[in-house]
Amino acid sequence: MASERQIHVGDVPVGGGAPVAVQTMTKTETANLQATMDQIRRVADAGADIVRVAVPRDRDVDALRTIVRESPIPVIADIHFNHTLALKALDAGAHCVRINPGNIGGHDKVGAVVERAKLLGTPLRVGVNSGSLPEHLRQLEFDDPVEALVSAATDMVELMERLQFANFKVSMKSTSVPNTIASNRRLAERIPYPLHLGVTEAGTKWSGSLKSAVGLGTLLADGIGDTIRISLSTFHAEEEVKVAWEILKALKLRERGPVLIACPTCGRLQFDMDTVVADIERRLEAYEDPVEVAVLGCAVNGIGEASHADFGITGAKNEGLIFSRGKALKKVPQEQLVDALFAEIDKYAKTKQIEVDATEQREGAEWLQRIEDENAGELTPERLAAVRELLEICERVLRRRRVLRG
Ligand code: SF4
Repeated sequence: MASERQIHVGDVPVGGGAPVAVQTMTKTETANLQATMDQIRRVADAGADIVRVAVPRDRDVDALRTIVRESPIPVIADIHFNHTLALKALDAGAHCVRINPGNIGGHDKVGAVVERAKLLGTPLRVGVNSGSLPEHLRQLEFDDPVEALVSAATDMVELMERLQFANFKVSMKSTSVPNTIASNRRLAERIPYPLHLGVTEAGTKWSGSLKSAVGLGTLLADGIGDTIRISLSTFHAEEEVKVAWEILKALKLRERGPVLIACPTCGRLQFDMDTVVADIERRLEAYEDPVEVAVLGCAVNGIGEASHADFGITGAKNEGLIFSRGKALKKVPQEQLVDALFAEIDKYAKTKQIEVDATEQREGAEWLQRIEDENAGELTPERLAAVRELLEICERVLRRRRVLRG
């Protein structure tokens, strides 16, 4: 269930029906202003809505003042253990401050941070991690780790409410994907505040992306989660942003840039898909329109499978076809396929219209028909499925007749 409350981190609305915000965290030493600002600009270009920076020392607070002023996207200061640094980060103009009330040094210190946040109108992110739950929940953590996480989070929420503070979002982080899913589902039913989702220490780009896609994707598909961060063991924070966008695009929650669809290839492959798909994926990064681009390794099955794609290519016998929304656009020599595809995408980017040349379209359609006719005898998976379906219908009709005859 989506959160009822909305907060604003800088100018980014979070919760209350706002689009799910993409967040990441810089990997640089925050005090290294040049390196941190370079990384912030890179993640902003990749589509991050909000960026978090670690603030473990006074010199990071000094840098934070400049970072907040120069960053193209809102900045969250990440504080652990030291409430004085949280106060300083608020005074430095951070758009949000993340604290773990469980390790900040007691309720009076949490109260001091909340009072300063109230005064400045700055939101807080309050969070718990499965690795650092309070002492009184240790036994529960052993018996029911999900309930232990949720209890720690609701304790924090109650503390915020006692302090008459509502300008916050909540996060519960676990390294376990099932626990991340179960605890956030439970918490979303109990509190109205925005939720920040992440699988903590998810792993490398490969395994971390998969764990995050499963954990966060499941929750987002349920309508749970208002900001997301993909934690990956890479220095390149923009990789986290790209993965976050792929998850949001796959669930059709947000649009950003093109969507690439590529067949998995099989023994019918007619051209070097590996190189072609990688080349197309790289070149598409420069485009902003949410066009759908399909790459089919052969034309044996026609282009029906990718009929929803704005543009697509397929190939056979040293030739290739560019198609659009289920119809042929033109045939081209295979070595020109990718360049010709991008020429069409470029035209569309300028005019927002798909230009059709009737002669080229007819030649392309004839080529496709020829390929389909030549392969008419081949039992492709689709044709096998169609034959199976037909047999099932026949069987059902025969059974019914037998029943009628008694
Ligand atoms: S049949 Fe053709 S389009 Fe389908 S997976 Fe194989 S190569 Fe790709």
